[in-house]
Amino acid sequence: MVKAIVGANWGDEGKGKITDLLAEVSDVVVRFQGGANAGHTIINDYGRFALHILPSGVFYPHITNVIGNGMALDIQKFIHELNDLTSQGVPAPKLIISERVQLLMPYHVLQDTYEEERLGGKAFGSTKSGIAPFYSDKYAKTGIQVCDLFDDQRLLERLTAAVDLKNVLFEHLYHKPKLDVDQLYQQLLEQREQIRPYVGNTVDFIHRALKENKAVLLEGQLGSMKDPDLGIFPMTTSSHTLAGFGCVGASIPPTSIQDVICVTKAYSSCVGSKTEPFVSELTGPEGDELRRRGGDHGEFGATTGRPRRVGWFDAVATCYGCMIQGATQVALTCLDVLGYLDEIQVCTGYEIDGQVTDQFPTTPALKRAKPVFTTLPGWKCDIRGCRDYDSLPENAKAYVDFLEEKIGTPIRMVSTGPMRHEMTSRVPKL
Ligand code: GDP
Repeated sequence: MVKAIVGANWGDEGKGKITDLLAEVSDVVVRFQGGANAGHTIINDYGRFALHILPSGVFYPHITNVIGNGMALDIQKFIHELNDLTSQGVPAPKLIISERVQLLMPYHVLQDTYEEERLGGKAFGSTKSGIAPFYSDKYAKTGIQVCDLFDDQRLLERLTAAVDLKNVLFEHLYHKPKLDVDQLYQQLLEQREQIRPYVGNTVDFIHRALKENKAVLLEGQLGSMKDPDLGIFPMTTSSHTLAGFGCVGASIPPTSIQDVICVTKAYSSCVGSKTEPFVSELTGPEGDELRRRGGDHGEFGATTGRPRRVGWFDAVATCYGCMIQGATQVALTCLDVLGYLDEIQVCTGYEIDGQVTDQFPTTPALKRAKPVFTTLPGWKCDIRGCRDYDSLPENAKAYVDFLEEKIGTPIRMVSTGPMRHEMTSRVPKL
């Protein structure tokens, strides 16, 4: 039985919290895409953690956590994150790194940084974690797989070929120092020893787990809007953020995914470049207030600390986001955050060139879209930590009913706080 937990929007929807909660009754948690370029915030009895590379099941000794073949593995950051965890009292987690996952190399980070510098005002707002150059190299077939680390000759050949190409770019396009193959090679040999205990055949492991009817969670990073094919290109990430890619990035048969849980916040938040269209954005003092009250300590990036842009719930984007994920249900987070508002707006349409639509458009049209809002009454009280959906204020329930109708997917979980058990379960009306 496989459940995918994925984002309906721009990322930061609260997937980490939902994964951490569902991991309690699961056996395996798999990350299938992305790398250290985004973070999942998890608050539990051990403390507050921002995980970037590690799957969110690492807090449970009964869970096997898998770094799937579709991820970008930065070994240094992986080791650092693991040490951080154990130094804060978390027991050493069970972990398997796919022998097929590719390595995010120091030159990917450099290239990402140099390219953003070169683009200047036209930069993508990259987290400079090397993700775009990493995936470019993977598809150009110049990447290095973890299994290559265990064949010295092959490793040196592949590394030399990659570095030869990078050095042309670094020297002639970016005017930066050239890379030293020997130094990189030695570094990889050391890192190989650090990850050796974790490396394994995750394809076999996952398929055996499925045969044994184990409960597997696929943990997505970022959200639908950041998918390079179906998101807001090019303000996307470079790996597929959709549950469908979980089949490839985690080596899961498509027919095994039974539940796709799309996570969305009760309002919108978006990190990245200011040039990215964000139709329902709230600016000025109203935006500042929502940003200050949002999430568990304000809406600031878990990886970068950058202030996130915030806005009203965007039903057009979320309906589309759930559709392309193939959502079977929605987990709505951060409902508690909106308790201070007299009235709440929901973006229910986009006006583009004088026409109102509820279809999510391509990027050039999205840039021209203006929000069409429906106003709903607020509930004006603190619902933080509520665990009984029925006891929520009528206006809060009416708000959730309205969102469900607009996005066309059953909302079964409504989260009322950042902590693991601050959650209610709802009977959908759809
Ligand atoms: P992820 O990448 O999708 O896991 O999301 P992030 O962890 O980057 O951002 C979600 C933020 O919302 C984190 O600060 C969470 O602690 C917080 N959060 C999650 N669910 C809730 C909730 O129901 N209420 C509040 N107030 N915060 C929440």
